[in-house]
Amino acid sequence: LIRIEDVHKIFGELHALNGISGEIKRGEVVVIIGPSGSGKSTLLRSLNLLEVPSKGHIYFDGVDITDKKVDINKHRQKMGMVFQHFNLFPHKTILQNITLAPVKLLKKDKKEAEEEAMKLLERVGLEGKANAYPSQLSGGQKQRIAIVRSLAMKPDVMLFDEPTSALDPEMVGEVLDLMKQLAKEGMTMVVVTHEMGFAREVGTRVVFMDEGQIKEEGEPEEFFTRPKEPRLQEFLSKIL
Ligand code: ATP
Ligand code: MG
Repeated sequence: LIRIEDVHKIFGELHALNGISGEIKRGEVVVIIGPSGSGKSTLLRSLNLLEVPSKGHIYFDGVDITDKKVDINKHRQKMGMVFQHFNLFPHKTILQNITLAPVKLLKKDKKEAEEEAMKLLERVGLEGKANAYPSQLSGGQKQRIAIVRSLAMKPDVMLFDEPTSALDPEMVGEVLDLMKQLAKEGMTMVVVTHEMGFAREVGTRVVFMDEGQIKEEGEPEEFFTRPKEPRLQEFLSKIL
């Protein structure tokens, strides 16, 4: 679904991404881990061109989206993105937050968009919050809304950047459970997280980044029980 070819990102003097290549297949759940500043967010943001690579190519469904002639907005609609801070529109209700993009970008009929939004809300048990505002929700609820808002666009892939890092511990589980469900249903996902339980249980592949490069990757079992790179061994010994 996504192919990354020798991607570099340079901020001034800083080589934030230093030659990243790889492939993400449909249905895969790729978990990215690594120390702070290793380039995880920059890589994730490059996948939908929130960061434009300084060098290299990214192919989405066979189309080179780093080609300047490509209409990136069209491709972005197919990639849902969920951030650490939920990024809901504060002055819009939950229902409006969810229906905005489908109506505006997909030109969906408002009624139809609202019906679909209500189904999504029921799915996460938040149908009672349709007319509430984001400030009236808990962090875990806001993040689940942010996720279903992305789902309303029927994306081909979901990108998550530390979706549980800003949450109180008791709310982490409800968000991870929803992500697990999505994975089970076959959603293609790229997830930056420090939740190693999730990586082990749900990930089809784990990628370790350090200094803007992929230093090791593999299936969770092998990756966690027999890490090869000394930097990864050191990283895991600190967080496990
Ligand atoms: P964290 O775990 O702290 O979120 P990360 O692995 O996501 O870290 P990135 O946010 O990708 O790291 O940042 C990689 C490097 O690029 C860091 O040194 C960061 O300071 C730098 N960087 C990121 N975005 C910018 C920017 N817009 N301008 C300048 N430097 C940036
Ligand atoms: Mg980050």
